[in-house]
Amino acid sequence: MKGSGFKYEHIRVNVAQLKKKLFVLGLDGVPYSLVKRLTEHDYLQNMRRIFEQGSFVRMTTVDPCVSSVAWTSFNTGVNPGKHSIFGFVDRDPRTNSLFVPTGAQIAVPTIPELLSMRQKRVITINVPGTFPPKRVNGVQVSGFLAPTLDNAVYPLSYLPLLKKFNYVIDVDASLARTDRGRFLRDIDTSFESRISTARHLLEKEDWDYFHLHIMNTDRINHFLWDDHPEDRVEFIRFYEKVDLFLSCLNDRLDPMTEFIVLSDHGFCPVKRLINLNAWLMQHSYLTYEIGHDLFSGGIDARWRAYSLYPGRIYLNAPSASPYNEVDIQGLMDQLYGLRDPENKKRVLRKIYRKEEIFSGPYTEYAPDLLLVPEDGYELKSNFDGTDIFYDDPYLRGMHTDHDAMFFIRGRRLNCNQMKILDVLPTLFSVLNVPLDHANLDGNSVV
Ligand SMILES: [Zn+2]
Repeated sequence: MKGSGFKYEHIRVNVAQLKKKLFVLGLDGVPYSLVKRLTEHDYLQNMRRIFEQGSFVRMTTVDPCVSSVAWTSFNTGVNPGKHSIFGFVDRDPRTNSLFVPTGAQIAVPTIPELLSMRQKRVITINVPGTFPPKRVNGVQVSGFLAPTLDNAVYPLSYLPLLKKFNYVIDVDASLARTDRGRFLRDIDTSFESRISTARHLLEKEDWDYFHLHIMNTDRINHFLWDDHPEDRVEFIRFYEKVDLFLSCLNDRLDPMTEFIVLSDHGFCPVKRLINLNAWLMQHSYLTYEIGHDLFSGGIDARWRAYSLYPGRIYLNAPSASPYNEVDIQGLMDQLYGLRDPENKKRVLRKIYRKEEIFSGPYTEYAPDLLLVPEDGYELKSNFDGTDIFYDDPYLRGMHTDHDAMFFIRGRRLNCNQMKILDVLPTLFSVLNVPLDHANLDGNSVV
């Protein structure tokens, strides 16, 4: 082999090896349109500068667009019919019983598991859907659902480190209603403890894949959405903190490390809330005692349909009840007729039958109907009243399925808009890790 040829090959191999690292920053619920708007109005100028150094696009997400479903879809590359998580509470179709699904129920391997199998070292912090923590090749710190820090970390030997940084799993969102000052302080302290922990692990540990998740953006979007003047100062103040952290992180990650920033859903201001169970009661699909719920046996056994948050309607299973005769098309037509009493506009953008939107062996766990609202109409499923439309003075923002964001540093994408299910294959492409695409529901966009 000639000397010059050998040198060229030598350099190529090294570049390929250096390219193996990937840092993913998850900013829960941060909309593409919000980043655009704030950066154009001279806020978040680090984000603006960094996002100009790569591709920054709008991303659609899965329905129902709640964090446990969206991040599990991100983490598996498949729709809920294949990974089996449909909401914060799900129904067992055989028994009609309800349960809170955890990461233990996810039916396919997640990114950290897939990479661990390939001897990559992974660190994930606070990612929804990762409780209980998996036995990864590296470190996993669970996100919400973990009852205490003591059972939220694998391996347990990292627990003292988390305690040293006063790490907390999540803010107590109920404080937004009862003690706003404490809620805002918790937002700050939990963010700071999380990024201190992440910085330490970033510096001290070997890793090929690092996923840090920030939940606080979602919490602040729910309770301080920026179009309310009295909330705007605090809202911007927190986002500027995130912006500064993003800048430090971008500087810290060497140019050869791949860097992705993404959210799992968009957000918009809340106009009104809609209690679908009250609607179902008024239309004779359901009878319940006020204040009781499905867990406490407060609904009449002759129920024909009930709703679980957000916008999921379950029909009584034919095998379980003689009261199951529901004309599904008739129910959909009635629901499409639901209008805001103030402006007479329709409030539902789309109603899906489960087989239209989900596919895979767990589709039987899916709601029979999935309702997607027009922006501004938050679909609730309460048993605490009979009003269909109501207001919540504390709730400022709600999720949307069409305005998530995706950024990748230093690369061009082959599309202007992507789906959250495209992220996993994209991520394996940039890591140069082989992947069996046969069962995936998305495609690489690099
Ligand atoms: Zn949320």
